[in-house]
Amino acid sequence: MCVFKEGELAILYDNKGRRYLVTLQKGGAFHYHSGVVAHEEIIGKKEGSVVTSSLGAKLLVFRPSLEEYILEMPRGAQVMYAKDCALIGALADIKPRDRIVEAGTGSGALTLFLCRQANQGIVYTYEKREDFARIADKNLRRWGAENFVLKIKDIKEGIDEEDVDKVVLDLPEPWEVLDVVKRALRPGGFFVSFLPTILQVHRLVMALKEIGGFSQIRVQEALLRPWVIDERIARPELRMVAHTGFLVIARRLADEP
Ligand code: SAH
Repeated sequence: MCVFKEGELAILYDNKGRRYLVTLQKGGAFHYHSGVVAHEEIIGKKEGSVVTSSLGAKLLVFRPSLEEYILEMPRGAQVMYAKDCALIGALADIKPRDRIVEAGTGSGALTLFLCRQANQGIVYTYEKREDFARIADKNLRRWGAENFVLKIKDIKEGIDEEDVDKVVLDLPEPWEVLDVVKRALRPGGFFVSFLPTILQVHRLVMALKEIGGFSQIRVQEALLRPWVIDERIARPELRMVAHTGFLVIARRLADEP
């Protein structure tokens, strides 16, 4: 049950910690600077096994976590980090059976997290650039995500869905689509916007108050500080991702008659 099968994704780690993502195929081979590994060497092995390349280099093999997969998949736009995806999941209460609208899709990193958390629900994801949408579609399918509908459409032109549970935006000018969002979101539904700069945050919060129909407006930032722990060392890593973006979260009010 736990051994690798043909068609599955595998992630290979070399002794320097470099990662390589492969889809296992009979007759397939993984080539890198330290030789070749036939996919058949991996098929039938357990996760956490070591395989040896044609030049004698050792590689550790696992099934990729979603975080690892996202770091290795092809990108169009910059992808959202796992810390921000996770915080969106928690603060916007993303859960099974949710109907979610997302824009823009970009490379599909956040879409993958949303699809997983909205298990048995559905993610309608809007991307205005056809080239990015094509990359995202491949990334989503390769991972095996099925509960999404990818639309090549500028969300400014409107959201086709009604009464959705969540609207999640990762685009630069969210204040321009608030009227559209307001119409699509059900009473009590969550609105989330990811923004890299605080000037955008300020503008969006002012716009949310101006348009009305939203409450419980919050702004949050996720800082993740990886640490090094060794026999004689216990300190934060010297270099880290200092900033990605802010989250603006709000809930839709019921329209008064
Ligand atoms: N969250 C994504 C990255 C999004 S990058 C990920 O994790 O992979 C922002 C994307 O929004 C870009 O691909 C851009 O083309 C798209 N975009 C910007 N404005 C848009 C709009 N009005 N409608 C739809 N897509 C838009």
